[in-house]
Amino acid sequence: MDRKTSLQALMKGPLAPLYFCIGSPVVGNPTQHMMETAFDALGYSGRYLTIEVEPDELEPSIWGLLAMHFSGGNVTAPFKQEVLTYLDELTESASLCDAVNCITRKEDGTYVGDNTDGKGFLQSLVEITPDLKKRKVVVFGSGGAASAIVTELALYGVREVAVVNRTLAHSKKLVNNLEGISKTVLGYEPWERTYQIRENDLVVVQATSVGLFEPEACINVAFASDLHNVVACDVVFNPVETAFLKKAKLAGCQTLDGLGMLVNQGAIAVKLWTGRDPDRALMRASLEEAFALC
Ligand code: NDP
Repeated sequence: MDRKTSLQALMKGPLAPLYFCIGSPVVGNPTQHMMETAFDALGYSGRYLTIEVEPDELEPSIWGLLAMHFSGGNVTAPFKQEVLTYLDELTESASLCDAVNCITRKEDGTYVGDNTDGKGFLQSLVEITPDLKKRKVVVFGSGGAASAIVTELALYGVREVAVVNRTLAHSKKLVNNLEGISKTVLGYEPWERTYQIRENDLVVVQATSVGLFEPEACINVAFASDLHNVVACDVVFNPVETAFLKKAKLAGCQTLDGLGMLVNQGAIAVKLWTGRDPDRALMRASLEEAFALC
């Protein structure tokens, strides 16, 4: 939006719609840059702010944002669960995985919480795995990202999902919460030693926090050398090519990095807020630009 149009909006209205990203710590989160790039390319007047919220001040902060009629926003760690309490409505995904990362103000002034992390991941995966419904998916991790992903895989109706996590109680809880939501066979497996990936046609998803900002760190897995038709995905987006993806590539797997998921969850939010599809390639480039500064 050019300066003249923006000045006209300021003096004559309507004022620019406002969006937020709240978290703690939130410095280093590139979402604002990605969203502003998307808004600018659409010629949309929305303004996006990154706001540090103290962990014990979520309640007054969120009431303030809602009272000031923010049009929506993103929620990041550690507030994805706690924020549920303050919203009028939850989507099926948010309620199933018990976490919200995207908030939208509806026309009637009420606020709905959604979880677009898993949806963003699913979009990236379906693009390169059109036969996903017939596959078995092994997901490593049972935290927020894993839970959002397993929820969407089950809602999408993949044949089978096995959750593998360091703390078995966390994977049990994740699977039990989702039991019966679809025909997907959901299970969990212990992870006591090196996990051996040796089945053809698998999809494996690294959804733990291992590898974030640590290019050499990798979860305890080994890939067989003669794998066929295996897709390996990582949710970690910095570095983009993680040690897990490097290992998978060496074993002949097709790989999917975490940047696609990050872009897609943001693009889904922009669509919810503006009704329009943003330019995902531009959004990805904006993230690469931001990470180059790290
Ligand atoms: P959580 O803290 O909720 O969960 C962390 C998970 O990692 C848990 O399952 C934990 O296991 C596991 N874990 C941690 N350390 C180890 C270890 N040393 N060995 C094995 N497992 C380990 O984090 P989130 O789920 O919110 O985030 C996970 C990652 O996903 C982060 O890197 C985050 O940046 C990324 N992410 C990416 C997104 C994207 O768009 N690409 C979106 C959202 C998140 P345990 O249960 O045993 O503690």
